[in-house]
Amino acid sequence: MRKIGIMGGTFDPIHVGHLMLAECAREELMLDEIWFIPTGHSYMKHNEDEPGAPTPQDRFAMTCLACEDNAFFHCLDMEVQRPGNTYTYQTIEELKHHFPEDSFYFIFGADCLETFTQWKEYERIIRSCTLVAAVRGDSSLEKMQNDIVLLEQIGAHVELLRFRAVEISSTEIRNRIREKKSVRYLVPKPVMRYIEEKGLYQA
Ligand code: NAP
Repeated sequence: MRKIGIMGGTFDPIHVGHLMLAECAREELMLDEIWFIPTGHSYMKHNEDEPGAPTPQDRFAMTCLACEDNAFFHCLDMEVQRPGNTYTYQTIEELKHHFPEDSFYFIFGADCLETFTQWKEYERIIRSCTLVAAVRGDSSLEKMQNDIVLLEQIGAHVELLRFRAVEISSTEIRNRIREKKSVRYLVPKPVMRYIEEKGLYQA
């Protein structure tokens, strides 16, 4: 039985904060592998209409490039290939179906705990995996403990992951590129080259 960490994300684009979080989760929770799963069409985010926006295939390609120098990291295109909106419960259930022996750990920013019960079919996610909530920077631990207790009352397994704050966001990277500023060291080099070659985010 393997312990698999799932890093879902829009990854628009993937940056070193995502990679550091995944590596931290792998080490702290002794996960065997981390599978990065870029979203297809996210019903909550609509950056796709912005000038220079990447296609889902571009976001998948950048995520693969970011994973290539870590033998524990893999990138899956299951959400990018799935038509319609991306829902995490479908992904986790599909993984459980194909890999019934393995246990899955869904890694996300702890702030998401607050809105987790608004996610579609969130009870089905809870039944199929452990939630790994990464606590960073200014997140209030007290508020978070309340969210965790509430989720545990409905059967969730939640692991808190202490993670150093890395003040990087995909929004900042997109803005920097638009402003013709450097994103060197904020994204892995092959990702930077991909963005440049494809002219992404350069409105
Ligand atoms: P994202 O913006 O690309 O970020 C991916 C993950 O990395 C998030 O958990 C995010 O936490 C974290 N992160 C971002 N910047 C970071 C930094 N500097 N340091 C450490 N961690 C950082 O992805 P997203 O759009 O939030 O989506 C996350 C996942 O949740 C996706 O798989 C999505 O499909 C899923 N989701 C599902 C539903 C649903 O099924 N109904 C609804 C919403 C989201 P923060 O969010 O705290 O920044």
